[in-house]
Amino acid sequence: MDDWSQIARGSLRTPDQVACAFDLDVAEVRRISRHFKTLITPYYAGLIKTKGDPIYRQVVPDPAELVEHSGVSDPLAEDHDSPVPSVVHRYPDRLLFLVSHRCASYCRFCTRKRKVGDPKKIHPKAIEEGLEYIRTHEEIRDVIVSGGDPLMLSDARLEYILTRLRAIPHVEILRIGTRVPCFLPQRVTPKLAAMLRKFHPLFVNVHFNHPDELTPEANQALGLLADAGIPLGCQTVLLKGVNDDPLVMRRLMQKLLMARVRPYYIYQADYVSGTDHLRTTVQKGIEVMEALRGWTSGLAVPYYCIDAPGGGGKIPLLPKYIQSISDEQVVMRNFEGETFVYPQPKSDRPAPEKKAPRKERRPSISPCYDLTGLPPIG
Ligand SMILES: *Cc1c(COP(=O)(O)O)cnc(C)c1O
Ligand code: SF4
Repeated sequence: MDDWSQIARGSLRTPDQVACAFDLDVAEVRRISRHFKTLITPYYAGLIKTKGDPIYRQVVPDPAELVEHSGVSDPLAEDHDSPVPSVVHRYPDRLLFLVSHRCASYCRFCTRKRKVGDPKKIHPKAIEEGLEYIRTHEEIRDVIVSGGDPLMLSDARLEYILTRLRAIPHVEILRIGTRVPCFLPQRVTPKLAAMLRKFHPLFVNVHFNHPDELTPEANQALGLLADAGIPLGCQTVLLKGVNDDPLVMRRLMQKLLMARVRPYYIYQADYVSGTDHLRTTVQKGIEVMEALRGWTSGLAVPYYCIDAPGGGGKIPLLPKYIQSISDEQVVMRNFEGETFVYPQPKSDRPAPEKKAPRKERRPSISPCYDLTGLPPIG
């Protein structure tokens, strides 16, 4: 048995283990875990310093999960865009391919908690059907291998899936979305990295939410992937009591860069049932973005997005930098709040609307002006 499967085997999983480890009421843990399984690797549990800290909040079941505040089971309406069970096809040229129901640990805020941890919902048998769907849809040039967590599959199984995907001529790039480098970095072995590098161009998006997660072990795992030539991105979720503090978020982004991970997205927490206690306002997200742009390396500044409830896809949100815009000039403010004016070219007037050729789907909304519609902060 690999080291990592041995470590995974030692995870806290039964309500008794969890209740005992964190001094909780076992009946309550049992009730919560009926809604969404509990699983915590011993490595990640070891990062908890105190009850209720940012690491704890992400994985330890909370009675607040049972309070019917708000939220829905499938906030992004993924099931609506699911032509076959293992595929979520929402955007024109790319899709999510769900290949594993397992994760190394379960995040209490998971947007896909209706599915992850349940082999009936993300079934190994559905993989062939997904491959067939991708093969017969020539518009798919980007496949995001997801789940659950694809790195919870064995090297052999993952290699099989990647080989089948690479054999499809119209699939240009592959991506893997994984939280394994955060929850179970021991799983990222030189052998895994050597296997993955055969499938370039392959991108890996990891998921870290707090600077304390960038341990020496995690840094080593990320280094192995980066040394295999894999461009690394990070998808962070904005969470109350975890990273809803501009300085914590800034430090996280900086530490990711030091691990050669380019922050890609900060997501507003999805409208998932039982997660009200972990969600922040959108104003908090804007405040976090204000504290990044200009104040630290641009490389450390990801997009802040809401994945729109109901299946609208990712919508980027920015602090309101544009104060006014006309054919003559643009008035804007910089990161420190000072106002600047950019004179528009005199010769140019906005071109009359041209009809876009019908061949490709094109955005029909003018992307120019008010990018957010949100009031300026502060
Ligand atoms: C996030 C997501 C993608 C990938 O979006 P990018 O902006 O290209 O990273 C693709 N499909 C679905 C359904 C998604 O939720
Ligand atoms: S690792 Fe991702 S898929 Fe797995 S529980 Fe966490 S958020 Fe959900």
